[in-house]
Amino acid sequence: MTEVLEKQEQRATELGRVSHWIGGQTVAGDSGRTGPIYNPALGVQTKEVDFASVEEIDRAVQVAKETFASWRTVSLSKRQELFFTIRELVHQRRDDIAAILTEEHGKVFSDAQGEVQRGLEVIEYACGIPTLLKGGFSEQASTGIDVYSIRQPVGVVAGITPFNFPAMVPMWMWAPAIACGNTFVLKPSEKDPSAANYVAQLLKDAGLPDGVFNVVHGDKVAVDAILEHPDISAVSFVGSTPIARYIYETGTKQGKRVQALGGAKNHMIVLPDADIDMAADAAVSAAYGSAGERCMAISHVVAVGEAGDKLVEAIKERLPKIKVGNGMEEGVEMGPLVTREHRDKVASYLDSGPEQGATLVADGRETAPDGDGFFLGVSLLDDVTPEMDAYKDEIFGPVLGVTRVDTYDEAIRMVNENPYGNGTAIFTRDGGVARQFEFDVQAGMVGVNVPIPVPVAYYSFGGWKQSLFGDRHIYGPEGIDFYTRGKVVTSRWPDPATSKVDLGFPQTR
Ligand code: NAD
Repeated sequence: MTEVLEKQEQRATELGRVSHWIGGQTVAGDSGRTGPIYNPALGVQTKEVDFASVEEIDRAVQVAKETFASWRTVSLSKRQELFFTIRELVHQRRDDIAAILTEEHGKVFSDAQGEVQRGLEVIEYACGIPTLLKGGFSEQASTGIDVYSIRQPVGVVAGITPFNFPAMVPMWMWAPAIACGNTFVLKPSEKDPSAANYVAQLLKDAGLPDGVFNVVHGDKVAVDAILEHPDISAVSFVGSTPIARYIYETGTKQGKRVQALGGAKNHMIVLPDADIDMAADAAVSAAYGSAGERCMAISHVVAVGEAGDKLVEAIKERLPKIKVGNGMEEGVEMGPLVTREHRDKVASYLDSGPEQGATLVADGRETAPDGDGFFLGVSLLDDVTPEMDAYKDEIFGPVLGVTRVDTYDEAIRMVNENPYGNGTAIFTRDGGVARQFEFDVQAGMVGVNVPIPVPVAYYSFGGWKQSLFGDRHIYGPEGIDFYTRGKVVTSRWPDPATSKVDLGFPQTR
């Protein structure tokens, strides 16, 4: 680990450059526009990333479009074999990818390994592509007529991804999209873009033909060029709600298929009969893991009745034990935030919360490690009410809010009235109440005594309300649907016994 840290310091003194990946090779950007990449634990710029122009996006799309013609003809068994190789390579290089994530995002190394692992599970699901693309067949639907359904790729698809899962979220998209026979253009977050290029090289090493997977870097200019491009058929987006809404509205107006996953405010309801230690462990892990920069983080606890005092006390006891620091250091459990601006914005809720009536139980500004890193320690705001900014906003940092209510009905109303509906959880020993919660709650992913209910790869991931725009969740069976179009064939082979002129509408008799 010391060696790794020394390398990090060294890299921080030699400004690297991250360029596009088009047609199986690195292509230096020529727009003259770039953005900075930081090592958030050190608080210094380590690299810069090229920002694509409209012409550069077009170049990538043209390559993807040309490659689509041949890629879609590759047999299912060859695609499957290739995906097994990709799976092996990602598995072997898991730690290299994780180190890149820690260096640019800041999450601790073990968490970064976990991120790659969850992405790998989607690649493993894609290995089953021959089974996943099986259609239906109806023999003798009418006399001498058979009917069958097939699913075909949609063409060139684009993925636009957020900073908080720089490896896993792209894998949610490119693995099913490419396995289905599409070609892909990825526009990763400009804050931590290097993992995308590393994976691009790895896919080439695995034998993926050049041009099937392309990476373009950039900001709004690149995103708008993707949304406007007539040769892109579908766009998958994951990021904040205002941008998700914009992507959905603009992309669909251009006739594209769009799934746009947005932000979240994930509530955890704790009932008086819950195992309080279990609930406190879960709340702490789910609120502060990855410094709260997870779309499935628990950012708000709703404590019912007498659970409130016990739970806040149990959470408070656990906070001083959390080790905050550089994610490459042994024993560190929580890293920095992604940028200085984001850290300052998150910290501002520790002022506005108490000003608006909340109780500041733990102030992460006092416990942040020294140095230039973008650190904020774990923070807890009690007595938060729905009118406060700390409740209304997606803070996306290590600040856990607590609201106390008297009844389950009040708790569920609060969750359902919130504009977001990504994940939610209930902690209780009562199976009947848990089942009722599952039935009542307006959210896409529900945990029962499980704080971060991210679905396994063979289910699909997605929220409700303002956490998702579009009608298909991501990865799993809905991912396969999203990246394919259905076709139904009605066929009859010449048979004199059934051939005759008939001007009536076809009947299935
Ligand atoms: P973001 O919305 O700022 O950026 C996401 C992507 O959109 C990036 O590639 C970025 O370059 C691009 N973008 C940013 N501003 C744009 C603009 N004005 N026009 C066009 N494109 C623009 O999100 P982020 O800060 O990178 O990620 C954090 C957010 O993502 C949080 O809100 C989090 O909840 C959300 N998120 C949601 C999920 C989910 O599954 N629902 C998963 C991960 C993250």
